[in-house]
Amino acid sequence: MSTPRIIDAHLHLDPNSKFYTPEPQLKHLLKLMDRLSIRHAVCTDHLSMYEGAGEGLRNLKSVYEESGGRVYYLGVYHPGRAAACMKTIEEAVLWPGFAGLKIHPSFHGISADAPVYDPVWKFASEHDLAILTHSWSVSDYNPAQTLSTPGKFERYIDKYRNVRLVLAHAGGRGNGRHEVIRLINQYENVYTDIAGDIFCYRLIESLTGSISPDKILFGSDFPWLDPRANLARVMLTDMDNSSREKILRENALKVYKIGK
Ligand SMILES: [Zn+2]
Repeated sequence: MSTPRIIDAHLHLDPNSKFYTPEPQLKHLLKLMDRLSIRHAVCTDHLSMYEGAGEGLRNLKSVYEESGGRVYYLGVYHPGRAAACMKTIEEAVLWPGFAGLKIHPSFHGISADAPVYDPVWKFASEHDLAILTHSWSVSDYNPAQTLSTPGKFERYIDKYRNVRLVLAHAGGRGNGRHEVIRLINQYENVYTDIAGDIFCYRLIESLTGSISPDKILFGSDFPWLDPRANLARVMLTDMDNSSREKILRENALKVYKIGK
């Protein structure tokens, strides 16, 4: 049997008090990873989403160890708790398995272009780290998403050209995707992932037809979605094997600088 090679570059662990999270523990994830030939994953935890980097991030250090070095993790920067987060992140950058930073402007209620994000971008720039961010389209049923539309990140993308930014969810199910495509084509340091329920018709084809396959990462958004949902889309899209390998593995290695 060949060694598993796939990397799931966007998922979450542990229960979330705001959303129902079926089977969100590491043991469930590892079972799925083994079943689906997923070698590595890059995760964040839900406690950190609410409180910022702190206890949650320290727990992820154990997750990396318990997973035998398979599940890497990101430190969440909560702009409402900036100083405390940066203190923990400064320690965590030296921990095994630490793979970068995460921001979520719509969840934290502070627009992506606000000055309060500057410390985390500066830190990423100084430590050669990637930032993963939630990105979405303007939404009438969820107005907070306007805080995370892709164009709002541009001032920092432009200012910190050595920071690899992953605009997650491909900008969501609307105009956000066009903005993601524009930013990726304009800036070398911008990437996207397909995590989540972006079940638009021919999403992968529309991305591979507009941007380089070097810029697209596979992600599931486990535990809300079984990795097979997005894995199948990459496997079934008509593309050459080298592009598929980049999306399912190589780009994550490059962006998050994680192990083989
Ligand atoms: Zn997510």
